[in-house]
Amino acid sequence: EFQNRQLVMTAWERSRNREPIEYGKRTDLPIRAQRESLPVFQMRQQLVDAIRDNQFMVIVGETGSGKTTQITQYLDEDGFSSKGMIGCTQPRRVAAVSVAKRVSEEMGCRLGDDVGYTIRFEDVTSPRTRIKYMTDGMLQVEALKDPEMKKYSVILLDEAHERTVATDVLFGLLKKAASRRPDLRIIVTSATLDAEKFSAYFLNCPIIKIPGKTFPVDVLFSQTPQMDYIESTLDTVMEIHINEGKGDILVFLTGQEEIDTCCEVLYERVKTLGDTIQELLILPVYSALPSEVQSKIFEPTPANCRKVIFATNIAETSITIDGIYFVVDPGFSKINTYNPRVGMEQLVVSPISQAQANQRKGRAGRTGAGKCYRLYTESAFLNEMTPNTIPEIQRQNLSYTILMLKAMGINDLLNFEFMDAPPRSSMTSALEDLYNLQALDDDGRLSKLGRLMSQFPMEPALSKALIESTVQGCSDEMTTIISMLSVQNVFYRPRDKQQEADNKKVQFHHPYGDHLTLLNVYNRWKANNYSKSFCVNNFLHERHLKRAKDVKLQLESIFSKLRLPLNNCNGNIDLIRRTLVSGFFRNAAKRDSESGYKTITDGTSVTVHPSSSLYGKDYDYVIYHSLVLTTREYMSHVTAISPQWLVESAPHFYKVAGAESESRKKAKIVPLFNKFSQNQDSWRLSSIRQTKER
Ligand code: ADP
Ligand code: MG
Repeated sequence: EFQNRQLVMTAWERSRNREPIEYGKRTDLPIRAQRESLPVFQMRQQLVDAIRDNQFMVIVGETGSGKTTQITQYLDEDGFSSKGMIGCTQPRRVAAVSVAKRVSEEMGCRLGDDVGYTIRFEDVTSPRTRIKYMTDGMLQVEALKDPEMKKYSVILLDEAHERTVATDVLFGLLKKAASRRPDLRIIVTSATLDAEKFSAYFLNCPIIKIPGKTFPVDVLFSQTPQMDYIESTLDTVMEIHINEGKGDILVFLTGQEEIDTCCEVLYERVKTLGDTIQELLILPVYSALPSEVQSKIFEPTPANCRKVIFATNIAETSITIDGIYFVVDPGFSKINTYNPRVGMEQLVVSPISQAQANQRKGRAGRTGAGKCYRLYTESAFLNEMTPNTIPEIQRQNLSYTILMLKAMGINDLLNFEFMDAPPRSSMTSALEDLYNLQALDDDGRLSKLGRLMSQFPMEPALSKALIESTVQGCSDEMTTIISMLSVQNVFYRPRDKQQEADNKKVQFHHPYGDHLTLLNVYNRWKANNYSKSFCVNNFLHERHLKRAKDVKLQLESIFSKLRLPLNNCNGNIDLIRRTLVSGFFRNAAKRDSESGYKTITDGTSVTVHPSSSLYGKDYDYVIYHSLVLTTREYMSHVTAISPQWLVESAPHFYKVAGAESESRKKAKIVPLFNKFSQNQDSWRLSSIRQTKER
């Protein structure tokens, strides 16, 4: 619990310079009056009637008008749930949890009873559940077992304007399900103006607009381009705090680290102001925060005090914070981008779109006339930002998505009804990826292995290693490693005790790399009875470790459903590393200088991330989990391997060049580009031609 919480508490506590105060529940209005004051309440009957009369429906409304929390309840009150659950998808985990919590409070029930939520590796529902919030990814997983969505009477695809891959895929799947089930209702909600497009896709269904009350927002552009947006952000916040009238501030940053830093630095600066200026509460919001801390942002700001919230783009539309009069928008967000040419996915800080900028601006005009400080020039807004955000499906790795579609029997990928089809190159690259992992056979059909892989909600390289581990006899170790990889960084590194934290971390370091280091951490925590004091003493995030434990349990239950064995190899490090190679052989790199590596597949220059236990070590061959692009291309989660494992695990992908003639020492591992692309071309064409004819 404590570390993230501690950060919030200290920021909060220090800025108040005394014990944190429990503000308790909103007391300004009783729940019923709050519900009835929302704009959507005026439309209640019209909405319910329209949903009864139309199979598809698009609902557009300002953020905060009550779409997510109210419409599900109206449908429930009107009896829709007697015919099946009311499902509501969210692109973000945090939003699903926070909204489910809010609705259970409004309905006066325990979370998980009548109202529940499902996110990856966490299911808080019961057989009684009538309203279920979930991530779009989880509904996509359900479609695998139940393509007709028989459990549901209504499905709300919420926040559709976000255009996540899962929502885009669900458009197609639900449209198909609805054609077989005339009683099923599909509602798409959006906070922006894509409504016409959604309606056209869903057979020109009706669009209902919820009139929102919004106040004008003054936009202030930066006169000159800002070199350091963090610095200008902090300056702007200070300036607002000192010079402007009442009202809270919302700042959009790109991620957790940036937000934590800003909170700390701002705190130090505010301290220098002394008592002459009113107090400033500093709160971070990002998805890794525990939900108790997040709910603090919904509490009304105490009198004589201003609140500043540093948030990721989660606060653009997914959650609504009342009382914001000032928005500070540096103009960036972190997006997952896939480069099909090199087959890599990267988190990159990129400029936002004009639509996003306007959405951010709108947050300042919900309670009264507000101001939006754009830390970029007007000309950058007009000339450098794209009008709309590019749908994820057009920029992300589709391997997992295509594996799911194949597992649903959807082979005809070219004719799948995508609202915006992904580029053909990224589809073929995903197919290639799955073929290389042997999830697809030579004809492009799902293999037995591929079917098993599709049962695990994770990237195919991971599920491949997981299934291989059951064969190799190290699935206990592999489930631990994969669970640890799927949670937030477990190492806690507070700014004022970095050296101490680093010294503790080194004690867990495994000489062969980060995967085994993670295994070490987990096993030693387990050996200490999963104790909290062990985490505190060793600078580990207990909350993240607990989550890894839950994930491990979930994986084990999938194992038992699929009758896969859970076996332990007593920490046989070669066996574990070889098994990892079976999933990650594509992510291999060879050392080519003092500290530099080159990826084997395309020769990209990469280095070991400084946080890795292999930093400064000199192994010749490594595999990595992902590449992180910051000032340079870093490999994160790196493990040293023996090069012949590449050829042994993936003889269809690598060969040893020059081994015949020269000494073994000079032998080089090279990708089988020639053979590979020849094979792939004929296979690609034939499988595409086949699927077209079907
Ligand atoms: P929309 O989906 O249209 O953006 P919501 O249904 O999410 O709107 O929110 C409606 C209102 O409920 C907002 O004014 C918001 O402040 C309030 N609200 C939502 N979630 C919470 C929460 N967890 N705690 C307190 N209030 C909340
Ligand atoms: Mg909403």
